[in-house]
Amino acid sequence: MPLCKWWLVRPGAGLMEIFDMREFDGHEQVVFGHDAPTGMRAIIAVHSTALGPAAGGCRMWPYASTHEAVSDVLRLSRGMSYKNAMAGLPFGGGKAVIIGDSRKAKSPELFEAFGRFVDSLGGRYITAEDVGTTTADMSHVARTTQYVAGLGAEPGEAGGDPGPKTALGVYLGLKAAVKFRLGRSDLKGTTVAIQGVGGVGYHLCGMLAADGAELAVADVRQAAVERVCGEFKARPVAVDEVLGLDVDVLAPCALGGVLNTQSIPRLRARVIAGAANNQLAHGQDGAALTAAGILYAPDYVINAGGIISVSREYHGGATEAQVIADIQAIPQRLTEIFERARRENRPTNAVADQMGRERLGRQTHKLVA
Ligand code: NAD
Repeated sequence: MPLCKWWLVRPGAGLMEIFDMREFDGHEQVVFGHDAPTGMRAIIAVHSTALGPAAGGCRMWPYASTHEAVSDVLRLSRGMSYKNAMAGLPFGGGKAVIIGDSRKAKSPELFEAFGRFVDSLGGRYITAEDVGTTTADMSHVARTTQYVAGLGAEPGEAGGDPGPKTALGVYLGLKAAVKFRLGRSDLKGTTVAIQGVGGVGYHLCGMLAADGAELAVADVRQAAVERVCGEFKARPVAVDEVLGLDVDVLAPCALGGVLNTQSIPRLRARVIAGAANNQLAHGQDGAALTAAGILYAPDYVINAGGIISVSREYHGGATEAQVIADIQAIPQRLTEIFERARRENRPTNAVADQMGRERLGRQTHKLVA
């Protein structure tokens, strides 16, 4: 499989294009992989190995351009450095993307080729599933590399699909945010809008419904909406309405960049607590949320449950009970951020970024959004 370390992002643009991208933010390594027999085209970004090998999932998405894929993998990879540092895991930050439509372009051979690509980094990057990839896909990856987690786990063992573990962390973090902002210690009657009811959103709905929360849900996949409405008595709402609903909590569990200059003036929720990575389009959008009186639970802190599970699985010998105990630390970590943000009159995302930078030893590095 031919590999090259750098690539022209757009026709006519030079190598400096990637270094100059604001998402680059001091990445240690960005590698492009192509496997002709399977058509695999993938990018691995290693943001930091300061705290350990770079760990983060592999997203499969039909990016419209290489530029879009590079931008996404860099943003996600940087987020993983902060996520792993804030969760106290012995991992640096990295991420991979496979360019392709997960509904049409998957094959066991493609994931085996991806595994060889991961293996070529000799353990500097550890992969797992993310949007568009599954536990079954990772079992194909595991045929060609040992640097993979998120595989099937026996009952009671650590590991397996990270989605339910991410949902647990989001549920516990959401409760902490509701307590902090609304002064409520339970969720009975609390209204929650959930954007995206896939792997994480579905499990989150189940936990919230069990606590008596009233759910409004939206998803571009009608079957996913019908499933949660049927199982958890959720109310379906239109995809273009969900962000602006008058609810206590908004839980973005679909895409990144949904909190931006267009959407923030329309928001009516008082708490934002969801699973999606990179919810803020730009760092300064966090200040706009604070000015609007909305408490934002920083995404990479609240959604760390999955990588906590991956970490325990990868290092071996752990039980599911230990994973759950680790995830139970998420609300405390968030409350610390909320309190510090209130004390210092700063946005929660700025406080989290500063704490993450301190843990990474990057105090002087300016984080660009
Ligand atoms: P998923 O692909 O299983 O679910 C995402 C859902 O969002 C899908 O049902 C999809 O149809 C829906 N969706 C897409 N565009 C939408 C739109 N415009 N409006 C409404 N719904 C839309 O992914 P997932 O594993 O549930 O992850 C959800 C988010 O959480 C992603 O941003 C992911 O990066 C993040 N995350 C996931 C994990 C994990 O363990 N799976 C961990 C950390 C962060």
